[in-house]
Amino acid sequence: MIPNKPLYIPVGNEVSVFRVAFQQKLAIMLKGPTGVGKTRLVEAMAYELGRPLVTIACHEDLTAADLVGRYLLKGQETVWEDGPLTRGVREGAIVYLDEVVEARSDTIVILHPLADHRRVLQIDRIGEEIPAAPGFQLVVSYNPGYQSVLKDMKVSTRQRMVSIQLGFPPPDIEVAILQQETGIDRKIAEDLVKLAQATRQLVEPGLHEGASTRTLVSTARLINGGLAPRDAARAALVEPLSDDATVTRGLLAMVETYL
Ligand code: ADP
Repeated sequence: MIPNKPLYIPVGNEVSVFRVAFQQKLAIMLKGPTGVGKTRLVEAMAYELGRPLVTIACHEDLTAADLVGRYLLKGQETVWEDGPLTRGVREGAIVYLDEVVEARSDTIVILHPLADHRRVLQIDRIGEEIPAAPGFQLVVSYNPGYQSVLKDMKVSTRQRMVSIQLGFPPPDIEVAILQQETGIDRKIAEDLVKLAQATRQLVEPGLHEGASTRTLVSTARLINGGLAPRDAARAALVEPLSDDATVTRGLLAMVETYL
């Protein structure tokens, strides 16, 4: 269970869509660039709905066994140990698969009967079909711009889910997020948001996405910790965005304009 209420400032109707999808037992797909509040939304909803949260970061080596469980040798015996997905299904948790398209397709297939009206997890290894406990909610996240076309999610998987699109928040909301999350001065928060917006207009090879809300939060924290704003922005915003020297120079020029 999440002990303290996470700060989440809604940007659109995502909180109500999440709430109704939960009541109606529909799986949720969160789409959007990195660092715009997908994870935070899930944490806030787990708190509001009073459900435990199981988060699984997906990657290409993630196997079905990593999700559902495996037999382990304990002393002389082999015992079955549930994986995180199985635990979440049994206890009626919100199970959040972050960056789901990174997972292999044979891993994603396991989600199908869980994502549709059947709401069951089939575990072939133990010949069991586990019905999801009340309160179970499947949430996956996915960054449409990031993966190659090949890795885009299959239509059959997507159509089982309700989609919530999260983008960069509008400026007034992003300023509020920065202020409430870090306690930073309003003027600096506004300047940081202007800077981020400028980086989001840049379309350059070597720059994949503009500065996210997360990088602004980190920059504000460094400023709170005593760094000069330009140094903070270089460390938490410019360098993490790109390794390309030309792009970095361009971003640093922007930092000097706005901070
Ligand atoms: P994602 O999962 O989309 O990569 P996160 O949920 O981890 O991004 O968000 C990154 C950080 O940005 C959070 O830790 C939080 O500080 C801040 N943040 C982004 N959006 C919001 C929001 N709507 N309300 C509150 N904080 C937010």
